[in-house]
Amino acid sequence: MKEHLLKILIVGDGNVGKSSFVQRYVNGQFNRTYKMTVGVDFSVKMLHWSDKEKVRVHLWDIAGQERFISMTRVYYKGAVGCVVMFDVTNSSSFLKCRQWKQDLDSKAMLPNGSSIPCILLANKSDLSQWAVPADRIEAFCKANGFFTWMATSVKDNKNIDEAMRSLVKEILSIQ
Ligand code: GDP
Repeated sequence: MKEHLLKILIVGDGNVGKSSFVQRYVNGQFNRTYKMTVGVDFSVKMLHWSDKEKVRVHLWDIAGQERFISMTRVYYKGAVGCVVMFDVTNSSSFLKCRQWKQDLDSKAMLPNGSSIPCILLANKSDLSQWAVPADRIEAFCKANGFFTWMATSVKDNKNIDEAMRSLVKEILSIQ
């Protein structure tokens, strides 16, 4: 049995749903008032990937440190994949994704020097007031080097496992 240890980051503006996403993915819960302790920390999830492979995901949430840029080098070190998340009802959180991606690409890279696989997640898709149309997300995704994007709802448990599976698959395909 082969075991992969994958450090995966989750970045994006405050309040887009990052902590909720980690909580849902790792513990299967959604808690409206849940807020992680401030500080960068990781949560662990084991995946039985195939007959021969296990994957241990270390999911690093920026948890309230969004403004403390000095934290980021430690945070990015050794990362092999990234989730960039925004809130579909908040266009400024979408516009900030370009900066999150650029910051990531300037600080994290694979041993061979290429940028790490990154998925763009349009969270809170259960809400009706989308501020960013899907075609704009699609164009942004292509123009900024994300391998794909998905609409997620941590609240409704939509596309959480699917998004992480697709990211893990992408990471393993280039290792
Ligand atoms: P973070 O600051 O990015 O870690 O965001 P949080 O995980 O703390 O979430 C911010 C707020 O958005 C909380 O009140 C969550 O309950 C709420 N939230 C997170 N995901 C969703 C979602 O998919 N749909 C809706 N409607 N609310 C969400």
